[in-house]
Formats: sequence, C-alpha cells, structure tokens
Amino acid sequence: MSSANVKDQNQPRKEMKSTGLKKCFTALVDRKQVNLDIDVLNLMLKKELLINLDVLDKNLAEVLPVMLVMYMKTWPGWQRSKEYFSGKLNFKDWYEKFRQYIVVRLNYLIKNGYASVIEEMKREKKRDVDRLNPIKTYTEHGSQTDALAPKSFAPFSICINCPPSVVNSVVFGDSEDDIILRHHPELLWTNIDTMQLIHWPFIEVEFFTPELSFKRRNCFEYTRYINFTNIPLTYDKCEYIDQIEIIDPSNGRNCYTLNMLRCYVKEYMSILKSVKDIDVDVLKVGIILNQFLADIEEINMNNTMATNTSVVFNIGRSVFLRNKKISRASYTTKGPNNPVGYSEIIVPKVETSLIFFKGVQDLNTPEVSFSYLNIIKNCLKSNDVKSAINPIKPLIIYKCSFCQLNLKEEAAIIKHLQEVHKMDPNVICIKCKKSLSVCLLSSVRWKHICTTNPISLQQHSKQVPITLK
Ligand SMILES: [Zn+2]
Ligand SMILES: [Zn+2]
Repeated sequence: MSSANVKDQNQPRKEMKSTGLKKCFTALVDRKQVNLDIDVLNLMLKKELLINLDVLDKNLAEVLPVMLVMYMKTWPGWQRSKEYFSGKLNFKDWYEKFRQYIVVRLNYLIKNGYASVIEEMKREKKRDVDRLNPIKTYTEHGSQTDALAPKSFAPFSICINCPPSVVNSVVFGDSEDDIILRHHPELLWTNIDTMQLIHWPFIEVEFFTPELSFKRRNCFEYTRYINFTNIPLTYDKCEYIDQIEIIDPSNGRNCYTLNMLRCYVKEYMSILKSVKDIDVDVLKVGIILNQFLADIEEINMNNTMATNTSVVFNIGRSVFLRNKKISRASYTTKGPNNPVGYSEIIVPKVETSLIFFKGVQDLNTPEVSFSYLNIIKNCLKSNDVKSAINPIKPLIIYKCSFCQLNLKEEAAIIKHLQEVHKMDPNVICIKCKKSLSVCLLSSVRWKHICTTNPISLQQHSKQVPITLK
C-alpha cells in the first residue's frame, strides 16, 4: 500500500471533478440510495460516456439508460469494496475500472444492436431469480453484490467467440489486478487413424445400410473456468450413464441382444471381405462397427440395445482436467499470491444411437445367419459381383459438431481437424494427475487405469541404490 493511496482515499471527492457518473459511483460506494431520472441518465450517456444517442436505432437509444443503471448495479467490481475500505484499493483506480466496464458493456450493445439488449436483459432476469434462490444464505446490501458472499463462482461468465484452434490454445492469467487472455502457440498435428478419429472430441460418425443404422457422437462435457491456481479443483462425481432417450417417440422400439448384433456384424463383414476390389475400406468399416458394439458392451444394459434409442455415457469412466497458467516470467505482477489460471474439467462422453436394425434371422440354416445377408450371398455367386454387393455397401458420414460440418471422406475430416482445430493439448487424470495425450486416449476408448498410487510411490522412494563393486 503506498502513501498516495491513503491520501487519495481520505479525501477522494475534493480532488475530482464532479460528474454524474462519479457522483453515482461515490454514492453507491457509501451505500446510499441513488435516484436518477431519464434526463440525467441520457446526459451521462451523451456527455460522459460520449454516446451519440441521436444516431442510434430508436429502440436501442430508449433502453440504453436502463442498461446503464443495470451495469452500474451489477458491476462485478463491487466485490472489491472490502479491499477499498481496508485501504488496499485506490478510489480513482476503482472508479476508472467501473467507468471502463460500463463503456465496454454499452459499446457491446451498440455494436450488436437491440437484440443483444433483449438477450442481456433475459440473462439479468435469470441472475435475479438465482439471487432470490433461498438456498443461498447471504444477503445483499442494497443493489450491491456483497463482498462477503460465499461463492464458488463469480457472478458473471465470459463468452469468447473464437475459431476452434483457439479453444485448444487459449490461456488466462493475471497482471496486477487485470485478467489477461493469451493464446499460446498451437500444437503440432500428429496423424490419427480411424479408431482415434471416431473417439476424437466433437467428431460424429453415422453409419447407414438398409438393415442397420447407428450414430456415435463424441459429446464431451467441458467445464471451463478461470480460477486461482493454488486452490485445488473439486469435482462432483458424474453419473456413468447420463441419459437414455427415445429418438423418435412416434416410432416403436425393439430390443436386441449384443450377441445377435455381433453375429450380424460378423456375417456382414465376412461378405464385405469376400468381395475383392470394392470401393469400400473394409478395415475402416470393421473398426466403426466394432466400436459401436463395444459401446453397447460398455453401457452394459444387460448386454442388450434397443432400436430408436440413444444413450449418453462417460466412455472409459475417467474424468480429466487441464490446468493452464501463463508462466510468471512472461509478465510482471505485483498482485497477491493468488496466481490466476485457466482450468478445464473434461468428462469424455459419447452418445451412441441405434437408429434401426432390421436383420431377420434365417431359421433354415444350422448356424445363426440372417435372411437378407443370405440373399446377398447367393447373388454374389452370380457373375456381377459389384452390383450384387451394392445394396449393402455402407454410407458413412463424419461430422464435426463444433463446426456443424458434414464430410463423407475420412481423410477430409482429419484434414479439417488438422487445419482448423489443430492438436488437442494433453489432459491430466483427475485422480493420479498423470498427463495423457488425446492421441493415446482416443486409441483406447478413453480408458485409463491409474498406475501411480501413493503406495507404489512410497515403495519407490524407499529403494536403495545398489553399487556394483
Ligand atoms: Zn470443426
Ligand atoms: Zn489416473
């Protein structure tokens, strides 16, 4: 704390030019009731915040005074009043942050038009409802957010619109009392195969033949926030099966055993393999089908799966995190010993959907086989193999749900990931804190077994080096 700060606080009002906004701020700091009429607010907008109301859309210009009041009330900086009253925060700087916040928020509305005001109002209404939630035991003084409120999260969220590669490289830190956002160099791409691709974040694959259609969607759950890196992360254990949904409620459902689906896939694959020179990558089709069967096994609903049904589950049953902070060497800080960083909690989730299955068992054969596949097999005995195989050739579509992109070629979707998303950074197991690559996890269905438990670490440290003489 410098002596200048103290002086400034003892006589803050004399030194400053009295303006409407500053008067309001001062009154709010002193927790006084503030009454403002529209004309005063409009004057503040025009003269102090330099907004030319006359050129704005009429609707927008009319609501700006209301929004100004709202931003004055909901400024997150009110939480620092404790610091101000204890002399750690300079009045002038605190006011400047307040003014800047209002300028930025109002300019955002002006740039994005009347619709953004409506959205903002809806959000504020929701926040009001949350505030009135009786579970929260703290009280508020007037319209201000109480600095002593027990909160695990700040009363605001940050929305960043950015290309997908930035999601993988953004990082937050602090510099003095500002939060800074940076973007670290993107990671080098490593080539991935079909197995990895269909377990890659945001990737969907749809499989379609006349008798079998399913979809797998990687819908990982990300919780991203800025926090103090010296505070340990807490995470409530998630449900293994998240949701089971009927895809089309107007349609019926049939239940099949995993065994029956396996038999069908086996016979189907043997037909594809028996045909030479077809323009189908049999190996890839096999991987996609087997991973779908592995989903049903992993979901473990009595080893059955119903058609017209989708299931969301925590594939691999692990939870991971990423902790990113800007290295202290790259910027200076005078702030307290609470370094700010950026954290992500990642729950790998897959939505697997059996859209339909129409395989009918052929009861005339000694082994389990299917009528339609047997018809195809008979047709293949004729000369024109290529046209005989045509009806059961699969249609496979890949999607990137982040970019809403559909592509038929595997190479094209990998290229999209490589060029637009770039490589995903490693994740850390929430239990054993081991760093693991997305390439590795995606090749093993996100399965990870913690190997370094505290006991083995202890044993390790007790080992005595042996010297050979
Ligand atoms: Zn994408
Ligand atoms: Zn682990």
